[in-house]
Amino acid sequence: MPDDAHVIDPKAAAPIAVQTMKAFVYKGSGQRAFEDHAKPRIIDATDAIVKITKTTICGTDLHILKGDVPTCAPGRILGHEGVGVIDSVGAAVTAFKPGDRVLISCVSACGKCEYCRQGMFSHCLTGGWILGNQIDGTQAEFVRTPHAETSLYPIPQGADEEALVMLSDILPTGFECGVLNGKVAPGATVAIVGSGPVGLAALLTAQFYSPGRIIMIDLDDGRLEIAKRFGATDTINSRDGKAAEALMKLTGGRGVDAAIEAVGIPATFELCEDLIAPGGVIANIGVHGVPVSLHLERLWDRNIAITTRLVDTSSTPMLLKILASKKIDPTKLITHHFKLHQILAAYETFDNAAETHALKVIIEA
Ligand code: ZN
Ligand code: ZN
Repeated sequence: MPDDAHVIDPKAAAPIAVQTMKAFVYKGSGQRAFEDHAKPRIIDATDAIVKITKTTICGTDLHILKGDVPTCAPGRILGHEGVGVIDSVGAAVTAFKPGDRVLISCVSACGKCEYCRQGMFSHCLTGGWILGNQIDGTQAEFVRTPHAETSLYPIPQGADEEALVMLSDILPTGFECGVLNGKVAPGATVAIVGSGPVGLAALLTAQFYSPGRIIMIDLDDGRLEIAKRFGATDTINSRDGKAAEALMKLTGGRGVDAAIEAVGIPATFELCEDLIAPGGVIANIGVHGVPVSLHLERLWDRNIAITTRLVDTSSTPMLLKILASKKIDPTKLITHHFKLHQILAAYETFDNAAETHALKVIIEA
C-alpha cells in the first residue's frame, strides 16, 4: 500500500456505479410510468434489499394513482405486497441472509416502539404502512424493506409462493379488520358488503369460526357467483337499492351479528347500519375518503359496536400455519398473471374488473 493511501478518499478512488432497475412509478394524480429507477441500497443497519419474484396490485394502489392518498408523493414506486429473495442485509440483520426466500408484509414494524409492543404494528412510530406509500414499494425488481427482521417472514419449504402473496395484505386485512373485529363466532349470521378481493378474503377467513350464515352483498353478479363458490351461504345483489329489505327477509327480520364493510363508500357503510342486529358489530375494512352518516337516531339503543382498523398483520404467523395445513386456498383469488414489463396492462386489467373479472393479478418480476 503506498504511503499516501490515507489521503485517498476511497469513494472518489472507486466510485460505485449507480445500478438501475425497472419499476412502476406514481407520477402524480392520474399519471404513471414503468421506467428505469436506481436500485435501492441499504440505508439503515436493520434494512434488507429483497429481489422481488412475485408481486400484485391492491385497490389502494388505484386510490394512490387517482391522487387520493396525500402521504404518497409523485415519484414513488408503488406496491406493498409480494415475495422475493434476500439480495443483501444491513449489519444488524441476523435472522436473514442473502438467498433466503421471504414474504414481505404490507406493514413494516420496528418491534420496539409503544405501538409495536401492543401488537399494533400498523401504527409503528417508524413503520406502519409505508411501503409503496412513504417509501418505495414492491412493484419493481428490488425493494428496500426497513425493520427487516420484524417485517419479513421466512417462506416455508415447499410453500406455494403465489398463495403467499395473498398473505402480504388481503388475507390479514380481511381477517383482522373484518373477522376478528366483527367477532365472528360459531353459528353467527354475518353479512359482508363488497365481494372484491378483500371481501372475499374476509369470506374465506370467516369460515375458520363456522358462522351459521355468511351473506355476501355486491353489485356484480359475477363476483357473487364467486362468493358462492368460496362458501357464501346466501348472496344479495344490491343494485336495486333494496339489499337491506332482502337481508331482513332472509334473517326473519333480525339482521346480522357482524356486518363487515369491505368497500369504503358512504352507501355501503350506511347499508351496514341498516343490517346490524341488536348486540352486533359493524366492522369497517373499507378505506373511506369522504364523511359517512352515522344514524345514531336509529342505533343509539341497539347495543352495537363499530370498529375500525388498519391491518396490523399480527395474524400472519397464524395464516402461514393455516396455509401449510391447506385449510384455505387463497390462490382462488388469483385471476390473471403478468410479467413485470407488462405491469401497465396489469393495472388496466385490475382497474377494469367489471369487464375483465379480475380479482388479484400476479406480477412476476
Ligand atoms: Zn393493499
Ligand atoms: Zn414500532
